Amino acid sequence: MVHGHILLLTFPAQGHINPCLQFAKRLLSMGVHVTFTTSLSAQRRMTADTPEGLKFVTFSDGYDDGFKPGDDRQHYYSQMKKNSSQIIRDIITTSSDEGCPVTRLVYTFLHPWAAAVARDCHVPFTLLWIQPAVVLDIYYYYFNGYEEDIVKNHNDSSWSIELPGLPRLYSHDLPSFVIPSSSNAHTMTVFKELVDTLDEETNPKVLVNTCDALEPEALKAIQNYNLIGIGPLIPSAFLDGQDPSDTSFGGDLFQKSREYIEWLNSKSQSSVVYISFGTMIVLPKQQKEEIARGLLESHRPFLWVMRPEESREKEKEEDDEDALSCMEELEQQGMIVPWCSQLEVLSHPSLGCFVTHSGWNSSLESLASGVPVVAVPRWSDQGTNAKMMAEVWGTGVRVKANEEGIVESEEVKRCIEEVMGGEERGEEMRRNAKKWKELTREAVKEGGSSDLNLKAFVKEIEGGECSSKVF
Ligand code: UDP
Repeated sequence: MVHGHILLLTFPAQGHINPCLQFAKRLLSMGVHVTFTTSLSAQRRMTADTPEGLKFVTFSDGYDDGFKPGDDRQHYYSQMKKNSSQIIRDIITTSSDEGCPVTRLVYTFLHPWAAAVARDCHVPFTLLWIQPAVVLDIYYYYFNGYEEDIVKNHNDSSWSIELPGLPRLYSHDLPSFVIPSSSNAHTMTVFKELVDTLDEETNPKVLVNTCDALEPEALKAIQNYNLIGIGPLIPSAFLDGQDPSDTSFGGDLFQKSREYIEWLNSKSQSSVVYISFGTMIVLPKQQKEEIARGLLESHRPFLWVMRPEESREKEKEEDDEDALSCMEELEQQGMIVPWCSQLEVLSHPSLGCFVTHSGWNSSLESLASGVPVVAVPRWSDQGTNAKMMAEVWGTGVRVKANEEGIVESEEVKRCIEEVMGGEERGEEMRRNAKKWKELTREAVKEGGSSDLNLKAFVKEIEGGECSSKVF
């Protein structure tokens, strides 16, 4: 049975591509045609084998080697807007001509203009929100009555705000973009356009990469919106195990060696600290030195992802002696890799703790794998995610930075010990992590809340069988 045709538009960042590819796979398994479109630069971030049956269309956003630090952000977005709008129109027209009309456009948050294009082409549209519901709630309330309060008080670390349906939030719990600065101004105009677009509709549905159990209040915190949990959008092999071959999404092309799995195999149960700051953050050298010392002082085995971009960044530093000062000791105690299959690592029995920047995918993956965390948020939604893990879901601790914003080695060590040590608090975090592993997996199982929510959405977009041969 064929259920219509979804055109999925996503931003070319790993943290956007991964959940979108997973969303596409779920739709395909339900018999929906899916056309996945993103910028050319995303191609190098995707596995060689895109899911069977997926139609993949790339377009140039003018930055085919990817957006780099120092590039003109405004120019990038204007090119992205122009070219992605054109590709949506083209796909909608050709699909119709080929007998397989697009029945719904699904877009992610950095393409708010896509909704207007779809409306113009008479195609219904839906936002796929790839961060937790609580973060969308915060942006919504920022633009609906709370902007002045936040702008006035964000500098005061003791100030907090209560937004309808959400836990009390301190300034460091808010997404970093709400803090007024010239570098945040453009991103906030994108979020404003997004919220304005949603506000124009009556009770718009928003699909959210979360699940009912994780965010029961946040999913209901905006009266005018209908937020629907359909996550975690994580490969099946790491969730319900329904499709053991479904193990990967983007990024595996970076993976040169699997030596680290053998290394993990040689370690005892729950003994290893895994450290990764996602795909975008380049840590200052001083911060890396502090983490390195904290790890050495913890005397625990560790696996640390240091991406090639970080090494390139290092080359640029004038006085750089390149490697970290204690590289030799680090390599004796742990393993440093440029990339790993994170879900495989998180699912490994030797994993004991995840030192994470708290990007939403990494946060969800830690929850679904039952691994407690040391949260080291840096920007965007990470502070909010860290708050949720540390204070609401109780699966970890959040580090405290010094006045210069650096997390010192002592603090790194203290947090690792708190999570991995035998004390009562550590035990509680590990227990909570196990509980959330069960609950998040329940959600995507046949008959679970996210499974039922997604099926209901698919039913709604149901269309006739395509006569086209393109799929
Ligand atoms: N990831 C991975 N291997 C790595 C580093 C990251 O597979 O060595 C994946 C990780 O599993 C997650 C994504 O890249 O799915 C990063 O997304 P997240 O939202 O956590 O952070 P971002 O990179 O967007 O800051």
